[in-house]
Amino acid sequence: MSEGAPGFSTLAIHAGAQPDPATGARATPIYQTTSFVFDDVDHAASLFGLQAFGNIYTRITNPTTAVLEERVAALEGGTAALATASGHSAQLLAFHALMQPGDNIVAAKKLYGGSINQLNHSFKSFGWDVKWAEADDLSAFESAIDESTKAIFIESVANPGGVVMDIAGISAIAKAKRIPLIVDNTMASPYLCRPIEHGADIVLHSLTKFMGGHGNSMGGIIVDGGSFDWSADDRYPLLSQPRPEYQGMVLHETFGNFAFAIACRVLGLRDLGPAISPFNAFMILNGIETLPLRMQKHCDNALKVAQHLSSHPKVSWVSYAALPDDKHHAMQQKYCPKGGGAVFTFGLKGGYDAGVGLVSNVQLFSHLANIGDTRSLIIHPASTTHRQLSDAQKTAAGAGPDVVRLSIGIEDAEDIIADLDQALAQV
Ligand SMILES: *Cc1c(COP(=O)(O)O)cnc(C)c1O
Repeated sequence: MSEGAPGFSTLAIHAGAQPDPATGARATPIYQTTSFVFDDVDHAASLFGLQAFGNIYTRITNPTTAVLEERVAALEGGTAALATASGHSAQLLAFHALMQPGDNIVAAKKLYGGSINQLNHSFKSFGWDVKWAEADDLSAFESAIDESTKAIFIESVANPGGVVMDIAGISAIAKAKRIPLIVDNTMASPYLCRPIEHGADIVLHSLTKFMGGHGNSMGGIIVDGGSFDWSADDRYPLLSQPRPEYQGMVLHETFGNFAFAIACRVLGLRDLGPAISPFNAFMILNGIETLPLRMQKHCDNALKVAQHLSSHPKVSWVSYAALPDDKHHAMQQKYCPKGGGAVFTFGLKGGYDAGVGLVSNVQLFSHLANIGDTRSLIIHPASTTHRQLSDAQKTAAGAGPDVVRLSIGIEDAEDIIADLDQALAQV
C-alpha cells in the first residue's frame, strides 16, 4: 500500500469492513436480526443512555448497516453516516434534525421530481416551508435566505437536465449566513464529486441508484461533514439544547463533529423509523465495491452516446455537461472532472409523438422510471412522470413534449447506440 490515506478504490472495497470477528467470514455477513442480547443490566443501561456504542435494535443500529455507513462516510470524506430505508427518508431525517415549524429550506429549482414533491407538499404539513432559487443564480440563493432559513438544499449534478451546481459558490453564501449546505450527491456519486471538499456540510444519497448500482435494493444515507458549528446560536435546538429523553444530554457537546449524524439516528431514525434492512445494506455494500469501475464506464458510455445523438438528424439538442459546448461544461470540469455522469436529456425534432415512438421501439433499453442501473434506461417524461402537468409547466420543469431522458448503463456502447439508432429510424 502507498503511504498516507488509502485511495478511493481501496476504500470502496475495504472501508468499515473487517473479517467477521465471530466466524472469520471475509464478506460482510448479513446480520438478519431485529435485536441484540445485552451483556448484563449495566451494559443495557449504558446503551440506552448513549454512554456506550453498541447494538440494541435494528431500527437504530445493525452491524451490516454499520459497515455501509462507515464505508460511505469514508468515500465522502465525512465524519459519520446514517443509512436509511430510501433516499427520501434520508432527506426526511436530515431536515427533521434541523427544522422547527415555521422554518424554511432554500432549495435549487432543479431537483429530482420526488424531492420537489416532498418539499412542496409533505414537508408543508410539518410546517416546513420551501423557498425556491434558480439553480444557476447564486444571488437567488442569497436573496431567498431569511431569519427562518435553516438549510440550503441542492443536488451536485441535478436530475434530469445534467446541471452541475456551483457547490463552492453556494457554500460561501451558506457559511456567510451560518446555515448548513446539504448536497444530494446521488447523480454524481463520490467517485465523480465529493461535495464536502467543496464546502458542503451534509451529503445525502439515494443509495438506490449508482451506489447500489444494480437496480435491486432501496436505500439512502446521510453523511455528516463534521464542519458545522451547531452551538454558535440557538437556531438548531435538537443539537444544541439538553435532550429530555437522554437525561439532559446536549448532543453537540457530547458528540462534537459527528453530532448531526447522531441526532439523525437517536432522534430521527429512532422516532420516525425508516430503517434500511440489513439485506439491502449488504446488497448496496457489494455494489459499492465496484462503484469506481462502473461509474467510469457509465461516464465513458454516456459521452459516446451523447456525441452520437448530437449529430443525429432526428435530434434537435443534447444537454450533457461533459460535451465541450454544453453550458455547464466549465462547472463539470471543476466539480466532476472524471466525467459527466450517466444521465442526460435530449430533444426530438418530432416532439411528443416521436418521444412515445422512441420509448416504444427500444429493445436493449428498459422503459422505466429509474436511473443508475447497470442497464440502460429510457423515459419520456411528458407521457409518464410529468404527464399531469400542463404543456407550459412541463417545459418549465425541463420535461417538454420533445424531451427524452436516458440513464446510460454499462453495456457495450456500440450496442446502446445501435438500439437508439434502430428505434429512432422508426419514429
Ligand atoms: C431517486 C432519487 C432520490 C430519492 O431516492 P429514493 O431512494 O427513491 O427514495 C433523491 N434524489 C435523487 C437525485 C434521486 O435520483
